[in-house]
Amino acid sequence: GEKGSVNGVKSKETNSMTEKFTARISLKNVEFSYNADREWNLQIAQLEIEEGCQVAIVGPSGGGKSTLADLILGVIEPDKGEITISDIPPREVIQKWPGIIGYVPQKITAFKGSLVENVTLGASFEEVSIDRVNDVLNLSHMNKNLNSVDSFNFEVMDRGTNLSGGQLQRLGIARALYSDPKVMIFDEATSALDGQTEAAIAETINMLKGRVTV
Ligand code: ADP
Ligand code: MG
Repeated sequence: GEKGSVNGVKSKETNSMTEKFTARISLKNVEFSYNADREWNLQIAQLEIEEGCQVAIVGPSGGGKSTLADLILGVIEPDKGEITISDIPPREVIQKWPGIIGYVPQKITAFKGSLVENVTLGASFEEVSIDRVNDVLNLSHMNKNLNSVDSFNFEVMDRGTNLSGGQLQRLGIARALYSDPKVMIFDEATSALDGQTEAAIAETINMLKGRVTV
């Protein structure tokens, strides 16, 4: 419509009236392996992340951090044990409350098109909430960082070649924030960044404190 609305957000509000979402993540006796030989496997006896908490998982490359992220996102399912968000499996959460879990991948990809399109991805022009886009561009520090008078008309080049690594990372955060998530998963969000950009992204994560489980 003229004022703009986001269907995903609307349906989430409708759902949350009948059932309340609690941004608490729980893993119990989880075991996961990519292969039948179980040469590499991930075991987590217990992990409880309370609503509004910010938790960092630290470990060596190949230690299983991304695997854990994918398990929590419901992209892959455990061989044994239980993973719940708001007391139900991640895949059910996504069906019930689309957009309530946000994900910032390690490598952000951008495409030729407007910055707005790059933030809102699949949303049709009529669905796009301009206020929401502005909010997430501010929250992710994308607005401040682009130094463009009109970031709405900023044109991203093919594969985002006119964006720096830090700007791409901010775009990834803006995208994830667009659906107003209550859970945000960052997979090494700052691993490829310079110190200054890392500090700015840490500041963004700080702003989410208490509001979003990170
Ligand atoms: P981290 O994110 O901590 O670097 P990963 O979760 O990516 O670790 O990887 C954990 C282990 O699982 C590594 O040994 C990796 O090679 C392996 N692995 C990751 N993804 C796959 C996959 N899709 N198929 C098979 N093995 C994988
Ligand atoms: Mg990883």
